[in-house]
Amino acid sequence: MWRRSREVPAGDLAALLHELATPGCLLCGAAERALSSFYFWYLNEQYHEPPVVTRVQSAHGFCRRHTLHLLVRAGAGTVTSIYRLAVPAWAELARRLETGSGRRDGEGPALAARARPSAACPACEQEGRTLERTLRGLHRAVADPETAARVVRSRAICLTHLLAAAPSLSWTGLRTLTEAALHGLGEGGVEGLWGTDGDAAVRVRAGGARSEPASGPGPEARSTSLADLHRLLGGAACPLCSAGLTSVDRYLRWLEREVFEPAHRWSEATVLCPVHAHDLASRAAPASIAALAAAARSEWTARLRELHAGLERRPPESPFVRLLDLPEQLRRTGDGGRSGWRRWRPALAAVLEPPERRLGRLRDRALNRPPCPACRHAAAAVERWSQLLAAALDDPGTARRYARSHGVCLRHLPAVLGRCRGSSAAGLLLRSMRVRLELLAWELEEAQRKAGWDLRHEPAGGERTAWRRAASLASGAVLEPGLPVGLSS
Ligand SMILES: [Zn+2]
Ligand SMILES: [Zn+2]
Ligand SMILES: [Zn+2]
Ligand SMILES: [Zn+2]
Repeated sequence: MWRRSREVPAGDLAALLHELATPGCLLCGAAERALSSFYFWYLNEQYHEPPVVTRVQSAHGFCRRHTLHLLVRAGAGTVTSIYRLAVPAWAELARRLETGSGRRDGEGPALAARARPSAACPACEQEGRTLERTLRGLHRAVADPETAARVVRSRAICLTHLLAAAPSLSWTGLRTLTEAALHGLGEGGVEGLWGTDGDAAVRVRAGGARSEPASGPGPEARSTSLADLHRLLGGAACPLCSAGLTSVDRYLRWLEREVFEPAHRWSEATVLCPVHAHDLASRAAPASIAALAAAARSEWTARLRELHAGLERRPPESPFVRLLDLPEQLRRTGDGGRSGWRRWRPALAAVLEPPERRLGRLRDRALNRPPCPACRHAAAAVERWSQLLAAALDDPGTARRYARSHGVCLRHLPAVLGRCRGSSAAGLLLRSMRVRLELLAWELEEAQRKAGWDLRHEPAGGERTAWRRAASLASGAVLEPGLPVGLSS
């Protein structure tokens, strides 16, 4: 259905060697090219083809990140057409769920399961396939020592992609790519450490690195949680998207100052995802970035060096042959003040450990770290605020505010629905969603109708911004809440 993007086919050594001529992470480059190709074909040829329309409907559009790509690359007319084809199907889904709701309390989880998209974001899927194929090609290529040396020289993998790929790599693959990542760490800048982020500049233009969203829960001393929730509902975007963005914003602001304090207070930040690393880099003082990068570089250099040293020689497959290493292992482990069997036992256990188990142990010790703290804080904020929203919707004052608010986006609807205890809260969520989607469907149709040649005398009305609101209702706060949006037109 979707055209294949240009990528390094697994086993195509010539293509891989060509890509290696340019230094930098091969996977970051392949992902960027895959997305360019994906959007080129999607926007120029495919978005109106029935199977593609069905696929986008099932995925509930694109994820936040890829919706931003869509808005940046496509004109308002094309985005209007894309949502014009998808929104009626979502309105129909909301109507079906609404009709089936309100019968009994505790139906939230069942409704949430039906409200989830039945397919992944198409762009994510394409990106994932490309990364998998490129990694497979890279993995095969490093079996050849000469190509492996070129992979290392060209710093063919960034830290982020090494961490993601490590569990699937063989002994040789992990050793070579660890060395390549070590080379990359030596390079200055955020890319060498945390990988490239093709969306960074676009997010800055869209306000992603702006000050705290006005709609975020405020820190006022007299504030109650319900008042904070009402403030979130007063914003111009999905309250859960706003809560997540606010949480990331606060963490990055805190981190920017905290990096001058002792490292144990913020050491988890040496694993930032590319998105949050670039968000921080676009707004923090150069001295803060330099302090964080120096700490991350020093920590990861030590970890990768230790891993690389541990992987220097793959032990023989046969346990009997491995026993020949026992004298060397005894010399390395020393006696540690033990004697007899107690002295032999650790060395014997080390020698008898199967190579695959040793690979897993070395890999976990060096690379197992909790994921990006900013992503974790955002996920926790969404989780907490969706619990509160689900509970508060039974309060008449909150229900009235919710009915007047932007409401949760389609992507966050299942999170709140699943936590609704009472049937009236679930009914309110579904009714609001259905009405918003039906109004949007009308506006998108109207925008397309007015774009016709014979209606050029008609002044444009509110429907001219329906495409932006459709993106915001489907995929959440793609663009910073409350900001005038105007990337494509
Ligand atoms: Zn990368
Ligand atoms: Zn996506
Ligand atoms: Zn949302
Ligand atoms: Zn992150």
